[in-house]
Amino acid sequence: MVIVLDPGHGGIDTGAVGNGLQEKNLTLAIAQRAAGALSAYVADIYLTRNSDRYVSLSQRATLANQKQADAFLSIHINAGGGSGFESYRYSGQGVSPETVAFQSAFHQEMATFYAQYTFPDRGMKTADFAVLRETKMKAVLSENLFIDQPTDAQFLQAHLQLIGDATARALATALHLSPVSSPPPAPTALYRVLVDGEQIGAYAQIENILRAVSEYLGSAREIRIQRIST
Ligand SMILES: [Zn+2]
Repeated sequence: MVIVLDPGHGGIDTGAVGNGLQEKNLTLAIAQRAAGALSAYVADIYLTRNSDRYVSLSQRATLANQKQADAFLSIHINAGGGSGFESYRYSGQGVSPETVAFQSAFHQEMATFYAQYTFPDRGMKTADFAVLRETKMKAVLSENLFIDQPTDAQFLQAHLQLIGDATARALATALHLSPVSSPPPAPTALYRVLVDGEQIGAYAQIENILRAVSEYLGSAREIRIQRIST
């Protein structure tokens, strides 16, 4: 599973601005945090930019196509009067059922996340955005709150990690990602107890070693405890 995250804007293109914030910085921060959280899942994650630089819309789509991505998510912050979350898929003919299902599942998770903080669900929408039109895989664009609305801006400034984590969770759910399996538990150390050169037992628990040894204390000439496995 290859996922391309697309932090909107960058470099000379600041995106929307408001309340002392620039969209390009917020989108990058969210994408980087989402990418970090996605390392808990079996997926290859690429970012269309990983610094404050300008990347054209076509370059973003081309990168996703070259990586043969399974899914593409463009991350943006809204502006222009309003509050809350909305998502977009391509408005043109022939948008795949996979894209519709992807938007639906992703949107539901994100809207539920924002609803916890009383931000409204502005709905699933369609638009003729270049990154949605030119990408060949299922593709969605998220508009995360309004940079020019004080309550939204305050939340964006304070909770980029939460938004990044929620984005990762929503992708994991929508794309049915498998968690990376945790490493097997380390083998337990095993010790053998030798009394006058003769093994009387092998034990993993310290209490069992002490119990075995105590029977020979006072009578044995030599008691040795040897580690026999990691
Ligand atoms: Zn934008």
